[in-house]
Amino acid sequence: MDLSIQPTNMTIKSVAVIGAGTMGAGIAQICAQRGWKTKIFDTSQESLQNSLSAINLFWEKGVSLGKTTEDQISTWSQNLETHTDMAKAVSSTDIVIEAVPEILSLKKSIFSKLDDILPKETILATNTSSLSISEIANATNRPERVIGMHFFNPVPIMKLIEIVRHDRCSEETISAAESIGLELGKRTILVNDVPGFATSRLGVVLGNEAIKMLAEGVASASDIDTAMMLGYKHPIGPLELTDLVGLDVRRDILHNLANSFSDDSYLPHPLLEKLVEDGNLGIKTGRGIYDWSNGTREDRNDL
Ligand code: NAD
Repeated sequence: MDLSIQPTNMTIKSVAVIGAGTMGAGIAQICAQRGWKTKIFDTSQESLQNSLSAINLFWEKGVSLGKTTEDQISTWSQNLETHTDMAKAVSSTDIVIEAVPEILSLKKSIFSKLDDILPKETILATNTSSLSISEIANATNRPERVIGMHFFNPVPIMKLIEIVRHDRCSEETISAAESIGLELGKRTILVNDVPGFATSRLGVVLGNEAIKMLAEGVASASDIDTAMMLGYKHPIGPLELTDLVGLDVRRDILHNLANSFSDDSYLPHPLLEKLVEDGNLGIKTGRGIYDWSNGTREDRNDL
């Protein structure tokens, strides 16, 4: 990871991450690597344990590849704390980054609670992929300090953070979010608060169409992915990417887009709905559009 430090208009010493799933773990990892005290809050002790395991696995892999040392891991680990008590997790923190499931009511209730607990100047960022930042911000009494910071999966590797500003967001908050992104070694883009922003809207439509093509028997999953990789220079196919992101996450984004734009063409294909209902959520559950149960990608012949 490029840790080059750029000038910032605020000094970050401590970060709280709300939600210890795929994204929360990755965000916490890079914050700890940056040298910031990083406290992760989740209602599930199991998720907190899993996040620490995933972070350690990533770091140990770095050691075996000669990219990381055991000394670095020991320093970074000391920056990480886990909590099931929100107030403890967010006390004395400079910024909070939320990464709970893509459900508007859940995010609004968390932001409202954070607003009650935290000093007025603390910035509250959401990692939502598609929800209205404005609606989340309006659940607080500090809308000018609420912003979208949309990281990508896997967070330690992907270079982009999509900064999403809404009407009441202050310029100071935007530049603070941009500086934080730079300090984390990321490139930022600035996008207005429209459903799905600049990334998710295109990404989920491609993935949903690929699932439709799979259901119609156009080609196997691996051939559809190869088509986009070799024919269109995508680094990963849309079906494998759906497994990486999580089928439930993508299903929720599609529902949000369909609702926000009042356009049923965004609705998830029935095969995607069925896979989610059956608990086939992608790599995280060992099965999604592909079978990952042996640790490698295998086509399924039961779809
Ligand atoms: P996930 O399902 O892997 O993790 C969500 C975590 O939130 C779980 O650990 C869960 O226990 C926890 N949680 C649920 N309710 C909570 C609460 N009330 N308080 C605290 N923690 C709670 O989800 P994810 O894939 O990490 O996605 C999280 C957010 O990031 C979503 O908004 C999603 O749209 C966005 N996002 C996801 C990806 C991706 O590739 N998965 C990429 C970019 C953005």
